[in-house]
Amino acid sequence: MNALDAPLTLRLPAALARKLAKAGIETLEDLLFNAPRRYYHWGALTPMSVLRKGEEVTILAQVESALLLPNRSKPGVRLEIRLTDGISRMNATFFASSEHKLSPHLRLLVPGASFLFAGKVGAYRGALSLVHPSFAGMEGDEEEARAQTERPIPIYAQTKGLTSWVVARAVGMVLDSMKAEDVPDLVPSELRHSWNMPSRFQALQMLHRPRNDEEARQARRGFALEEAFLLECVLAGRRFGAQSLIAPSCPKGQAVDDFIASLPFSLTASQEGALGEIMEDLASTQPMQRLLQGDVGAGKTVVALAALLAAVDAGHQGALVAPTEVLATQHLASMRSLVQGVCVRGMQVDIRLLTGSTSVSARREIHALMSAGAPVIVVGTHALLQESVSFADLGVVVVDEQHRFGVAQRDHLRTFASGRAAHQLVMTATPIPRTVAMTVFGDLEETRMTGLPPGRTPVKTFLVDAENAQWMKRLWERAAEEIADGGRVYVVCPRIDEGEDLEDAELGDAAVENAVLEDREAKENGSKRPPLASVSALAQSLRESGVIDPEGIAELTGRTSPVEKAAIMEAFSTGLQPVLVATTVIEVGVDVPEATMMVICDAQQFGISQLHQLRGRVGRSQSASLCMAVHRHDLASGTMERLEAFAATTNGFELAEKDLELRREGDVLGADQSGKSSHLRFLSVRRDSDVIRRARGAAIDLVGKDPGLIRHPVLADELRRRGHSDLVWLSRS
Ligand code: ADP
Ligand code: MG
Repeated sequence: MNALDAPLTLRLPAALARKLAKAGIETLEDLLFNAPRRYYHWGALTPMSVLRKGEEVTILAQVESALLLPNRSKPGVRLEIRLTDGISRMNATFFASSEHKLSPHLRLLVPGASFLFAGKVGAYRGALSLVHPSFAGMEGDEEEARAQTERPIPIYAQTKGLTSWVVARAVGMVLDSMKAEDVPDLVPSELRHSWNMPSRFQALQMLHRPRNDEEARQARRGFALEEAFLLECVLAGRRFGAQSLIAPSCPKGQAVDDFIASLPFSLTASQEGALGEIMEDLASTQPMQRLLQGDVGAGKTVVALAALLAAVDAGHQGALVAPTEVLATQHLASMRSLVQGVCVRGMQVDIRLLTGSTSVSARREIHALMSAGAPVIVVGTHALLQESVSFADLGVVVVDEQHRFGVAQRDHLRTFASGRAAHQLVMTATPIPRTVAMTVFGDLEETRMTGLPPGRTPVKTFLVDAENAQWMKRLWERAAEEIADGGRVYVVCPRIDEGEDLEDAELGDAAVENAVLEDREAKENGSKRPPLASVSALAQSLRESGVIDPEGIAELTGRTSPVEKAAIMEAFSTGLQPVLVATTVIEVGVDVPEATMMVICDAQQFGISQLHQLRGRVGRSQSASLCMAVHRHDLASGTMERLEAFAATTNGFELAEKDLELRREGDVLGADQSGKSSHLRFLSVRRDSDVIRRARGAAIDLVGKDPGLIRHPVLADELRRRGHSDLVWLSRS
């Protein structure tokens, strides 16, 4: 048994263990890997200006004065302690029935003494205060106290009445009772030395009881490296595991050549490059595991379709999984039109749609084709994933991945693909940052498509303050002009109709969540702030404005039925109804080359990649296009920064990095990342790109040389312990 799995009851006094258990800290691991949030220093007081009412805080403050007073209206006394950080002051108040009960407080809390105080910040008559805070000072004799002033004080997150110093005391007791053998190193020693990492045992000491700030920093760096290394080992293992499976070989045949030749354009250099890599992968019986990154409009669909055609041309089956029904339907339509005139073994290419709303009879027919091993391409949503087992002979699966797909779903996709041992191509809607690619998609080879097809002019982006009436008027006039010139205009709103909650906020993005919360709050407080733009209200007012022909305005939301949707998209695309007021249902993949203007209402509600994806709906032809991001007047500075970053560049790779910079840590890997085994405690995908890169190289090397980790049993055990025993490569060892 791993020493870290031992219950704390074996090492701590029962009362203390019970207290910790209440806060969910039950094992040595729970306690020791609950890292301090920050460190204080005796002498460096906590600035009070950063405190907010309602927060649970631990502060280091100095007692300025202490005053014992009788209560005004009821019997008993109170002790008013004036605390200072050297600049500001706040009160700490203790109530008691008699003076006697406060005598320990009176003895300790003398002017000039510094203590840690923990409690919830309250406000009394406009001034911040703490009522009955817990407090702790330096321990031991004078000499010991002097030594303590040099040392950082670890401050732990305060939960369920557990103060930081109680945690520190427990950690100290456990660390004292431990031996180095209890925490063997996970990172092999040669690597540890070359990375200048402390041992695991040392690192724990340095994390919880650093002698100076540098030690604390070293400890965190060590654990970040360890975390990155373990993660990359898992990813490398998955890669090797999948490589040992056999997938049907799908060499490039006549159909792919015919398809490329039939296109009304020639491929760009990066499409050629991507196609070359993919075709080489497909010819092999080793399953392809590739991530295709390209900016919005780079032409990924053609490349993906070529891969699917190679599968059916070789007599196997193909599948394309899209995140939404709208997108699946769109893929079906564009793929069918792209392969018109291409024959596979003398027959038209058979492409089917399988989604949640496919009729029972159609579903039955498609299933029959799937299980008979007929060379079909099936386009679908998640429903297809569940039914994937029905494929008798799946050769290639393309996953059109969105920021909406969490890590958990990716795992699902992986099982699906590797269980069937099909070649897998994952596409992202907008580029993702390199460090994220190395973590979330670290088991995939990466192909990058840079640049757009020739003749595209970059979309011009403008930020428009919604309260600027003149600009708003000009904006709609401009829309009318675009239409008169033969263009189409998208107008995107964050909600369907008034009073309803947001259809599709990009969760996991702190800035967006804040905007959503602010909005909800404003609504509850009956604030005068105008409601968020809604499809129905905006379409209505546009029709009444007289600037645009009311007949030409259509609406599209998640509530529109599939049949209606198709009709509306058709009317938009042909120009019968050149204005489409919609929610983010049109966000991804929708392809109407004639569209030249994108108006995004309440743009502050959307995250960068979502904005970029929306903007990608225009600028898809030779004509110049523009994007108007209409935003609320009173924006928080972070939100404005996000919008400005978006307006400043149309390069999705740049935006992806910028987005990462602006996000809160923990949002980066998506909402599904909170599971215990995948949770990153020390590694920052935002800041630690060097660490990740280094760990990745080492992990690939190590797993490559020793796929079963025979020579690294401790590491193998740890990965099993973290629930990675499902991995092919580990279970075989
Ligand atoms: P994305 O990479 O965002 O999925 P699409 O595959 O939807 O982009 O392609 C965007 C548009 O560009 C489509 O209309 C597509 O037909 C067109 N396109 C793709 N490749 C080329 C090319 N080499 N030259 C010109 N147009 C192209
Ligand atoms: Mg696409």
